Amino acid sequence: MHRPNLDEFELIARYLAPLARGESGAFGLLDDAAILDIVPGQRLVATADALIEGVHFFPGDPPELIGRKLLRVNLSDLAAMGAVPFAYLLTMALRDEATADWVEAFARGLGVDQKIFSVTLIGGDTTATNGPIALSATALGYVSLNGGLRRSGARAGDRVFVSGTIGDGAMGLKVLTKKLRGLGKDDRDYLKHRFRLPEPRVALGQRLQGIASAAIDVSDGLAGDLGHICVASGVGAVIEVARVPLSAAARHAVGTDPQLLETVVAGGDDYEMLFMAPADRTDEIVTVASESGVPVTEIGSVEIGQGVTLLGKDGSPIELESHGYKHF
Ligand SMILES: [Mg+2]
Repeated sequence: MHRPNLDEFELIARYLAPLARGESGAFGLLDDAAILDIVPGQRLVATADALIEGVHFFPGDPPELIGRKLLRVNLSDLAAMGAVPFAYLLTMALRDEATADWVEAFARGLGVDQKIFSVTLIGGDTTATNGPIALSATALGYVSLNGGLRRSGARAGDRVFVSGTIGDGAMGLKVLTKKLRGLGKDDRDYLKHRFRLPEPRVALGQRLQGIASAAIDVSDGLAGDLGHICVASGVGAVIEVARVPLSAAARHAVGTDPQLLETVVAGGDDYEMLFMAPADRTDEIVTVASESGVPVTEIGSVEIGQGVTLLGKDGSPIELESHGYKHF
């Protein structure tokens, strides 16, 4: 039997139980499961996402940021559904050499984001592994009976929108793996930060209910995730690549290497909202974007047909080598 050096019960009591104080039904993580009151007139929204060492983060990455990213990638999926997040479960598989310092910093990161996003830890599991560190969170949220956003509602004639800027996450990964050179330090730091600490668009997702016809969060890459919407909705979509919003750092990178536009369109890890809405809802989207404090940009349209077409500056189609995100 394989046992970690850190005592499991002490680890829970010292680092995780304090994260569960906000929910009485979590019983201080001392019981076998949490018991939660269900709000009448609401439906539960549940999602799970894992981060694996060597796949989604590097062995030496700051544990505080790993904790925050784990929570945020899950909150991004709730945002894509228009849900209000309230709780999450956490499963950790740690190696023998895991230190109290690592777990403390990881839990501190979770605590910071619990405050920002109003969520509470309500349970989970801690276990030992001989392999890479494996971390999984299950996030819970709610939507009203007629609320929520889905991938399947896009219709021909709808406009296509994205929040924030696209390509920073994938470029940040390239910086971290030394595959993107020739940028100044500020740009490199900005892109790395965007990869390590995405911004789930929780408030925007909630406000888009009743306005957006379909939505998804950009985790696999803009083209790939738009492709998922097209399949679910039975439509095609056209993106004008020149309209895709870029950060200053990403613009600098594309300026030195135009090939990086492929990373913008096909790279992953942006965790921005990609959504569609009928053209006559554009004014409402402008309002919702400003209320949420998140820039939103129109980048294309939904059409009869299938698949994603990328148009270059001159209006002619661009071919991509890959449409999805590959992990490092
Ligand atoms: Mg998603």
